[in-house]
Amino acid sequence: MFNKRIKIKDLLASDQTGQEVTVMGWVRTFRNNQFIALNDGSTNNNIQVVAELGKFDESLLKRITTGASLKITGESVPSLGKGQKLEIKAQRIEVLGDSDAEKFPLQPKKHSLEFLREIAHLRFRTNTFGAVFRVRHSLAFAIHKFFNEKGFVYLHTPIVTASDAEGAGEMFKVTTLPFDNTPRNEDGSVNFKEDFFGRATNLTVSGQLEGELAAMAFSEIYTFGPTFRAENSNTARHLAEFWMIEPEMAFYDLEDNMNLAEEFIKYIIRYAMEHNREDLEFLAQRLAEEEKALPQDKRSEMGLIEKLEFVVNNNFERVTYTEAIDILRESNHNKKKKFQYLVDKWGVDLQSEHERYLVEKHFKKPVILTNYPKEIKAFYMRQNDDGKTVAAMDILAPGIGEIVGGSQREERLDRLEARMDEMHIPKEEMWWYLDTRRFGAVPHAGFGLGFERMVLFVTGMTNIRDVIAFPRTPKNAEF
Ligand code: ATP
Ligand code: MN
Repeated sequence: MFNKRIKIKDLLASDQTGQEVTVMGWVRTFRNNQFIALNDGSTNNNIQVVAELGKFDESLLKRITTGASLKITGESVPSLGKGQKLEIKAQRIEVLGDSDAEKFPLQPKKHSLEFLREIAHLRFRTNTFGAVFRVRHSLAFAIHKFFNEKGFVYLHTPIVTASDAEGAGEMFKVTTLPFDNTPRNEDGSVNFKEDFFGRATNLTVSGQLEGELAAMAFSEIYTFGPTFRAENSNTARHLAEFWMIEPEMAFYDLEDNMNLAEEFIKYIIRYAMEHNREDLEFLAQRLAEEEKALPQDKRSEMGLIEKLEFVVNNNFERVTYTEAIDILRESNHNKKKKFQYLVDKWGVDLQSEHERYLVEKHFKKPVILTNYPKEIKAFYMRQNDDGKTVAAMDILAPGIGEIVGGSQREERLDRLEARMDEMHIPKEEMWWYLDTRRFGAVPHAGFGLGFERMVLFVTGMTNIRDVIAFPRTPKNAEF
């Protein structure tokens, strides 16, 4: 058997010295022709391997370069180096894959995140990305664990959809039609009858509508899958392809929905804090270093770990849109015209500068904003009795802005149809969605959490391109 190895994380966690062990990994550094720092991605900590002088061929030693992969068998011995209990005294070293030191782009030094984005295929091999992607994994796992424990059914909603009614964002078209000689109807429009599906289709922007259908049978479901938005917003918080978690629950009102979202966010953060302590400490350190370069007033008030602890231990602030508008309008920030978009009247959509002001300057904690004007929200949100607002709720997080968008859904057929008419949404195409309001409709609610925004929040990274393996953004789909 080839792979009889111990993972470096497990080896470092054990204190069993005097044993023969085999490790495999990639060389981070090789010092003095003697000390190899080997990493296998199970932890940011390297195992130190000592290749005693004189014991190995010069020709072999030459091949131990940064980035090369090795299989090493040796004895685990107590380490004299600080910060590690044991190291390996090498008996056999096998080079599994060479790495030309002249050409390998990752040097044992600090690289900028921008540079690392250009070599995203190799950046997993850095401490920062090692930590980020292990935390990302843990969060994903915790999400399934949370919903599984609550008895939610994991629903896989389609990636290719025909509905474009959601209006969540610009869609990517999916087609097998040729670009030249595109089949056309007499009036010049594209003849989608000739297309693979016989109709126009897109990549999904959200699994919510399908999620609602399943919630009307299982009571509680969640989705966790990729979503696509062709929005040309080149920001540090938008991707064209991102992962979304969308629970949808029958027999929930807006308050139940908020309670679930808050419990959920706290649960997955707590899980990462328990299972990724070392990685989070590393990322906290990284963030603190990074912020040293910033002027005092731009630095975070809390360290990363402190911030996460604060979030899991405190209630989110719950305020209505109307209250938020009053706060913003009366703020010195607004009066001194420090917002790019000044807040003057009820009904305006909140920009991310407003969201961040509320969270970071005013409340200094996560905020759940509720009951938005119906004009700035989707057709399916439940209409409140005031005739002006809908039972929406967005969760805003420090440093990020909107992290969750959700609502109680309009379960009353007449109200829903009236709203669809007002918003010119074709009811015929949505017959299946409306059917749930015809056959056993119940009060229900749900929300969408942008997974990468959550990963940003937990890791303290600042650009969404650095928390997804291969980001898809305007003019960029490399790898
Ligand atoms: P925003 O105003 O920030 O663009 P949105 O109102 O378009 O967000 P929703 O349609 O409510 O967002 O989507 C639900 C969640 O998905 C958001 O709260 C956010 O966390 C995430 N999200 C939305 N668009 C993107 C995107 N382009 N890239 C990454 N995450 C996103
Ligand atoms: Mn958007």
